[in-house]
Amino acid sequence: MKELNEKLAEWAFDKEECDLQHPCEGGHYIADDKIFYGSWGLPNFTESIDASFKWLVPKYVSELGTMPYLFSRWLELIERGVEPAPALCLVLEKLIDEGG
Ligand SMILES: [Zn+2]
Repeated sequence: MKELNEKLAEWAFDKEECDLQHPCEGGHYIADDKIFYGSWGLPNFTESIDASFKWLVPKYVSELGTMPYLFSRWLELIERGVEPAPALCLVLEKLIDEGG
C-alpha cells in the first residue's frame, strides 16, 4: 500500500526537490498548511480515513466529482469486504485515473 499512498500524495500535494543539506527520500510534499519531508513522512492514507478526508476528499470534490458518487463507489468496495480506509484510497485512485 506504500505505492498507493505515494501515488495519492503525488496527486494531492505539490512537490519540490529536496536540497542536499537534508536529503529527504521522495522530496518535499507541499500541502496548503504543511510540508511533508520525504515520502516516509506522508499521511498514511491507506490506514487513516481521517487523513484521506483531510487531504484527499476535498480535492476530489473540488476537481473531480461529487461526494454521493464517491460514497457509492466506496460502499461498493466495503460491501465486497475491503477495509474502509484502503477501500477509500482504491476508489480515489480509480476515479483519479478515470478523471472523475
Ligand atoms: Zn528535504
